[in-house]
Amino acid sequence: MTQLSSEFDLIARHFTKPAANAVLGVGDDCALVDVTNGMDLAVSTDTMVSGTHFFPDVDPENLGHKTLAVNLSDIAAMGAMPYWAMLALTLPTVDHPWLKAFAKGFFDLAAEYNVSLIGGDTTRGPLTITVTIMGQVPTGAALRRNGAKVGNDVWVSGNVGDAALAVAHRHGKIVLRERDYREAVMRLYEPTPRVALGQALRGMATSAIDISDGLIADLGHICRLSGVGATVELGSIPVSEIGARHFNDDAGLTAIVAGGDDYELCFTAPANSRESIADLTDVLGVPLTRIGQIKRGKGVSLLGADGKPMKIDGRGYDHFSGT
Ligand code: ADP
Ligand code: MG
Repeated sequence: MTQLSSEFDLIARHFTKPAANAVLGVGDDCALVDVTNGMDLAVSTDTMVSGTHFFPDVDPENLGHKTLAVNLSDIAAMGAMPYWAMLALTLPTVDHPWLKAFAKGFFDLAAEYNVSLIGGDTTRGPLTITVTIMGQVPTGAALRRNGAKVGNDVWVSGNVGDAALAVAHRHGKIVLRERDYREAVMRLYEPTPRVALGQALRGMATSAIDISDGLIADLGHICRLSGVGATVELGSIPVSEIGARHFNDDAGLTAIVAGGDDYELCFTAPANSRESIADLTDVLGVPLTRIGQIKRGKGVSLLGADGKPMKIDGRGYDHFSGT
């Protein structure tokens, strides 16, 4: 629907690029893609609202990167290969320098993963960005949330907490050194989607999820859907040097275990996959750390240094809690 007078100009100027992967890209009523035989189409949508999912003063290039990155992360968590994206933009005003920077962040990341922007929508309103991503995964091979088995190990990629530490700093709950804040906030705005890792885990991981709401909450989703529980050893959670400096204060620790926005993968695998998973660390250059175990029961318990369960507010981010 045309709501911005310069809508077509805006799309032509900033969001029309040859769609290498598609039969038909931006410009028609629908885009067309050729879906490969023997593959399932993996589709996911994520919306980011100004003031809720990002600080309104965010650098537009970082925002362009992030909107695509969080969607690529969902594709990664399914073990799929990304191909196509749709972009629905709601904008308060038409600000060409802002749009140019946003498009740069978006397309630079898209180029890294050979993703084509094949369509979208553009309307006026409070700044809101929705990306729909599509990818392919061999039929039956997707990594789901519901496959964790009692006795499986729980793994996490990279390190967790920096993004949430940056948010906690912005909210005045902790104080990061200037240099640490600048580094941590880049993890918030330019997360690295673990796409190669997700694909490498096919046939190895029994379940997977990307960490968007927080480690404990997202592992909790795996547990709920798999009908199991989990224990996580606090001391084994991988953190950066910044995270290590805040591991022993309450607000810092809460950010690390319950904060979101890391977009690392949390996955489960049988103990006999330990060696193959360790090999992946070398092949992909992504640290993979065993942080716990799948158990009978329900929920995630976090075990402190003394091996006793800790009480932590690990609910993660829930948009409608308390409303
Ligand atoms: P319609 O009237 O069918 O909704 P639009 O006028 O909204 O079509 O869009 C025209 C074309 O531009 C479509 O192919 C649509 O997918 C594409 N498009 C609109 N907004 C965007 C955007 N922000 N990014 C990429 N493509 C877009
Ligand atoms: Mg439209």
